[in-house]
Amino acid sequence: MTAASNKELKQDINCDFDPGSISADAALMRILESVQPIPQRETIAIRAALGRVTSEDIKSRVNVPNHTNSAMDGYAISGAAIPKTGSAQFKVAGISFAGRPFDGRVDAEQCVRIMTGAVMPEGCDTVVTQERVSREGDQVMISSEEIVGANVRQAGEDLTPGDVAIAAGSRIGPAHLGLAASLGFSELPVLRRPRVAFFSTGDELRSVGEALEIGDLYDSNRYTLFGMLSEDNVELIDLGIVRDDPEAIKQGFESAASCADVVITSAGASVGDADYVKQTLDEIGAVNFWKVAIKPGRPLSFGKVRDSLFFGLPGNPVSVMVTYQIFVREALRKLAGEKNAPVLKLEVPLTSQLKKRAGRVEYQRGILSRDADGNTTVSSTGEQGSGILHSMSVANCFIILSADSEGAEPGDMVQVQPFSQFA
Ligand code: AMP
Ligand code: MG
Repeated sequence: MTAASNKELKQDINCDFDPGSISADAALMRILESVQPIPQRETIAIRAALGRVTSEDIKSRVNVPNHTNSAMDGYAISGAAIPKTGSAQFKVAGISFAGRPFDGRVDAEQCVRIMTGAVMPEGCDTVVTQERVSREGDQVMISSEEIVGANVRQAGEDLTPGDVAIAAGSRIGPAHLGLAASLGFSELPVLRRPRVAFFSTGDELRSVGEALEIGDLYDSNRYTLFGMLSEDNVELIDLGIVRDDPEAIKQGFESAASCADVVITSAGASVGDADYVKQTLDEIGAVNFWKVAIKPGRPLSFGKVRDSLFFGLPGNPVSVMVTYQIFVREALRKLAGEKNAPVLKLEVPLTSQLKKRAGRVEYQRGILSRDADGNTTVSSTGEQGSGILHSMSVANCFIILSADSEGAEPGDMVQVQPFSQFA
C-alpha cells in the first residue's frame, strides 16, 4: 500500500460522515422553507400577551412623554434668565410635583421648585439640579455656568402619535408590556400560538411513579420537551408514551396530527428493528429528511403528517435537547410569526481540550464563565455522551465545532451559542 492510500484510509477511519445525511445548515434551511407563520389573530388582555407575538405594529396614540417635564429634582427657570457672568438670585414662586403641576406663570427673575417627572411650568425651559444651587428662604442663587434647556424631557421625545412602538412579529417581553401600558393599551393584538403535540416512543419507557423492571428506564424526554416547549410560545399537548408497535405509532401520529400544528416524537427514529417512526412517516406522511450530519442527534427526521409539521427526534436525552434547540425551536418561532429573533453566537477562548472526529457538526456542552481577569472563557462540561443529561444540566451554552473540525485545544477560539432562555 502506498503512503497516499494509507493516508486516505486513515482519514476514512477517522471520518464520521454518513453519506445518507444532510448538513445541519441544509436541514435548518429545509425546515424553515416548510414553515409558514400561523395567520390567525386574537386580541387579548395585556398581561395575557406576555410571551406572545404581536400580529400588527403597535402604534403610539399619545406623545411619550405626554408633557414636557423635569428629568431631575431641582429648580425650573427660563434659560434666557441665566446670568451672563457670576450668579443671580431667583425667587421661588411655587412647587411642581409629579402629578401636581405648578399652576401659574413664571417671570424671568423667578424659579419653581420642581421634582423629577413634574410638568415644566409655563415660561420655563431649563432645570438646574438642586445640588448646583444655594438656597436661602425663598431665594435661590443660580450660576452663569448653567446650560439652557438642561435636564428637561420634551413632550414626544420618545414617541409621537403614529410612531411604531412595538413592531409586528415581536415576542412580547416585560419591556414590551411596560411600553404598551405606558401608551394606555389594555389589550394587545397577537397571533394564535402554535399547538404542539408530543409523545415518547419505546417499550423500555416507564413513567415516574411506576416501578422499573430490568431494562426499563424512566421517560425523561417528555420532561425536557415539556420544559423547553414551556419556554417557547406554544400550547402543548402531552400524549404520553407510545409502545414500539407500528399500529400504536400510527395511531399516535394520527391523534397528534388531528389536534396540533406540530407533532414531536422522540426515539425509534433510527433504523433498528423496533424503530417505526420513519416507516410510519413514509406510510402516512411525507419525509423531508431523516438523517442530519450533527452530533449528537443524527437520526432526526422531519416531514409532515397530514397538515402538521413532524419532527422525529432521536431517543438519547441530550440529542433531544440539542435537536430541539437547534432545529425545532427555530421552526416554532417562524410558525408563531416571530421576526427578528437572531440566534446569538459568540467567539470565546476555550480552556479545555475537546475531542472530535471530522464529519459532523458537533454541539458539545460548555460552561461560559469569567476568569480572574474578567475575560469570558468557555470550558467543557466533561464527558459528552448523548445519554449524559447531567452534562446539559450543568451547561449554559453549546460549543459548536464545525463538521471538518478535529477537536480543539485550550487557548483556541471557539464558537459558542448561549442557551437562549426567553429574553
Ligand atoms: P432509540 O432511538 O429508540 O434507539 O433510543 C435511543 C436511546 O435513547 C435508547 O438508549 C433509549 O432507551 C433512550 N431513550 C429513548 N426514549 C427515551 C426517553 N423518553 N427518555 C429517556 N431515554 C430514552
Ligand atoms: Mg427505541
